[in-house]
Amino acid sequence: MDTGGEIYDLAIIGLGPAGSTLARLLDPGLKVVCLDKKSDEAKTSFKKPCGGLLAGDAQRFFASFGITLPLNVLVSPQIFCVRTLDVRSGLIRHYQRFYLNMDRHRFDLWLRSLIPHGFEVLGDVRCTQVRREGGTFKVTYVKGGEARTLSARYLAGCDGANSLVRRSLFPGHRIRTYTAIQEWYEDEHDAPFYSCVFDAALTDCYAWGLTKNEFFIFGGAFPQKDSRERFEKLKDEVRRFGFRLEHPVKREACKVLSPATPFEIITGGGGAFFAGEAAGFISPSSLEGFSWGFQSAMILSEVLNEGLKQGLSAKALHRRYFLRTLPLRFKLTLKMLKARVLFSPLCRYLIMRSGIASVKLRR
Ligand SMILES: Cc1cc2nc3c(=O)[nH]c(=O)nc-3n(C[C@H](O)[C@H](O)[C@H](O)COP(=O)(O)OP(=O)(O)OC[C@H]3O[C@@H](n4cnc5c(N)ncnc54)[C@H](O)[C@@H]3O)c2cc1C
Repeated sequence: MDTGGEIYDLAIIGLGPAGSTLARLLDPGLKVVCLDKKSDEAKTSFKKPCGGLLAGDAQRFFASFGITLPLNVLVSPQIFCVRTLDVRSGLIRHYQRFYLNMDRHRFDLWLRSLIPHGFEVLGDVRCTQVRREGGTFKVTYVKGGEARTLSARYLAGCDGANSLVRRSLFPGHRIRTYTAIQEWYEDEHDAPFYSCVFDAALTDCYAWGLTKNEFFIFGGAFPQKDSRERFEKLKDEVRRFGFRLEHPVKREACKVLSPATPFEIITGGGGAFFAGEAAGFISPSSLEGFSWGFQSAMILSEVLNEGLKQGLSAKALHRRYFLRTLPLRFKLTLKMLKARVLFSPLCRYLIMRSGIASVKLRR
């Protein structure tokens, strides 16, 4: 079913940190529709698998807008250091960190609540197809079992790692991808903690363990081949180091991107723009994605607000967005270099062995 003849200026697909920020910062005079899988129904809604840690860069982004975080987004406890474990060498070090520990789903819903009222926000809908047709984009989505189609002049793919928009419009584009798997357990550890785990034999990325309210989450990012087996093996390994991982109450899995070169970042083309992880904006060294989603969405909003007012062509808008995201891509390139050092077993061993920047624990 077609939703009538009206044509939106912009359709935003995905309201995670990138999509909600883009919608919040766009000129309210634009005709914008936002579509997202999530619903307010906590039990049945789609929930993004995530660690839910708000890093310093993301906090700074909020600070720059004078935005404060509501208490109900936070969970217990707030942790001041990360226990870093290298499974192969058996080395353990503690490093100070300034993350905020959050409920990811509540965080997403809160970000969505900041979108101005003039925009049409469609929750609990799944986009199934996007295509170019007669100078506009046709977006097909399913709501309550019924398929509908809307039209928009421009498209913003903010639909995360497995972006339907990217796969549909740029099917040949490749970004290094891992499979993230995490399980939730009733927490049985003596004290809450946050841990970062490296095991070069099982993944060239990393794994994490984290207390969240009464639960302990253990997860990791693995090469896509044999990811499940690698995860199970890693669980066996970390049990030796005191991780209590029996009887998971929930298991989640999704793709997570980790760009290996700056050329893997894709900002869009032909009227379709990407922001956040859909573009490949995520730190390959920490898999921190919120601040990258915020920053890229903010830049995109500025380009669209100015450019549409000036009547720029799609090509000129893309050029501007590409150029304005250069500093972001440069910063990401530095993170790629950092990831090479961090994920090299020898470099990591030397850094951890030296104890540099670590916190000495006092009992
Ligand atoms: C296991 C794991 C743990 C992580 N932990 C952290 C962390 O602690 N801190 C951090 O900063 N980053 C973390 N990240 C990275 C972070 O989650 C992402 O980089 C960030 O969420 C990207 O934001 P985004 O808005 O670009 O995309 P997303 O947050 O993925 O949002 C995309 C949204 O699009 C919607 N969507 C997708 N497809 C469709 C569709 N077809 N139809 C309708 N809606 C759709 C979904 O509802 C989704 O919410 C983690 C990632 C993983 C996988």
